[in-house]
Amino acid sequence: MTPETIQNFDKRHLWHPYAVLDSDDPVFVVESAEGCRIKLKDGRQLIDGMASWWSVIHGYSHPALNEAIKDQVDQISHVMFGGLTHEPAVRLGQALIDITPQSLRSIFYVDSGSVAVEAALKMAVQYHQAKGHIKKTKFLTVLGGYHGDTCGAMSVSDPENGMHSMFQGILNRNIHAPRPKCRFHENWDRLDFEAMENLVEVHEHEVAAVIIEPIAQGAGGMWFYHPEYLQCLRRICDRHGLLLIFDEIATGFGRTGEFFAMQHAGVVPDILCFGKALTGGMMSMAAVMTTGDVAQAIHESPAGVFMHGPTFMANPLACAVAGVSINLLLQSNWQQRVHTIEKIMRVGLEPARQSSAVLDVRVLGAIGVIETHNPIDQAELCRIFVERGVWIRPFNRFIYIMPPYIIEEEDLNRLCHAMVESVERC
Ligand SMILES: *Cc1c(COP(=O)(O)O)cnc(C)c1O
Repeated sequence: MTPETIQNFDKRHLWHPYAVLDSDDPVFVVESAEGCRIKLKDGRQLIDGMASWWSVIHGYSHPALNEAIKDQVDQISHVMFGGLTHEPAVRLGQALIDITPQSLRSIFYVDSGSVAVEAALKMAVQYHQAKGHIKKTKFLTVLGGYHGDTCGAMSVSDPENGMHSMFQGILNRNIHAPRPKCRFHENWDRLDFEAMENLVEVHEHEVAAVIIEPIAQGAGGMWFYHPEYLQCLRRICDRHGLLLIFDEIATGFGRTGEFFAMQHAGVVPDILCFGKALTGGMMSMAAVMTTGDVAQAIHESPAGVFMHGPTFMANPLACAVAGVSINLLLQSNWQQRVHTIEKIMRVGLEPARQSSAVLDVRVLGAIGVIETHNPIDQAELCRIFVERGVWIRPFNRFIYIMPPYIIEEEDLNRLCHAMVESVERC
């Protein structure tokens, strides 16, 4: 097919994320991708700044990951997980137990991040049912969060970005504390936790759990906050019998400079969700891990089982490639690479501060963000970026990158230059 044939059908029939059909915004036709390069069907090549939304940490078409899927296809591509199990699920399970804190030993595989969040919320409710706390059906979270697009996940996301007013009738009414103000690198200010503390005290009787993205808020505002906030949260949850859920779907697998962002704070949740980079961007998969206590309580709950079971649970292809991706990451010098990416972005993005269009520039691990005062013309900026040979997709007031960890210094500098120059158009 020619690029035009593809584009014409796409425009008429295929929905894109947060988009309308028949839009005049450009969509570019990809032919293939390798390493940090996305190759368009018209012959152009783009340096990838997005890692396809946090997921492609090893770059595209990594031979070991491609091989893992090809090998697994010849064994079995899919089989139901009800009543059956397989080696890829067990191998991945062992790897997950090895890379997570010791108390998290029970694993629930799901097919996407949003579903992981749904499962985590349900686990918390079933936990409290077992304890006889049937009124604990609400969740406490912070503003500026993003947890996915399904109804439970939307209900704990930022009310504005999560479009609470649009879906009012069908969303649970949950409780939102202010966004943590104290930045990651600042001195901790105790007052930053006061509002959350008050909300816990007022709503304790109806709250099942606190859910939060540790350290780095992603799509809700690309914001990095202080580790002490999480330590306070752990203490207050323990004191008031609330479960603590960490959503590491974006932050897991090294992105913030620690393997999991929670390690910046040395805090362990009762329930942990991760996804996105789990398979190195090869397949859709996510997982929820919890403690023996939570698992035991769920067994003692009125249902007697955990009431969830996706059709494609523990898909063998996804499990196999996730296992290989984790090994690849552990055997790489990922921490050094992420640290180097951080240093280069700190220098490379700094000049953007000079622009009056720019409100803030911030970098944590392999995440680089320019925040503008006004909303960005996404389509226009994407077009300019593609003309410059880079793939960066800004949203709202954020021009940001989180490249594959294998990116070379020269490519990363080109991404930073393109970002800094683009603010002149904001
Ligand atoms: C992307 C994301 C999700 C949702 O994951 P999907 O796989 O898109 O459903 C949930 N939480 C966070 C923090 C995310 O970044």
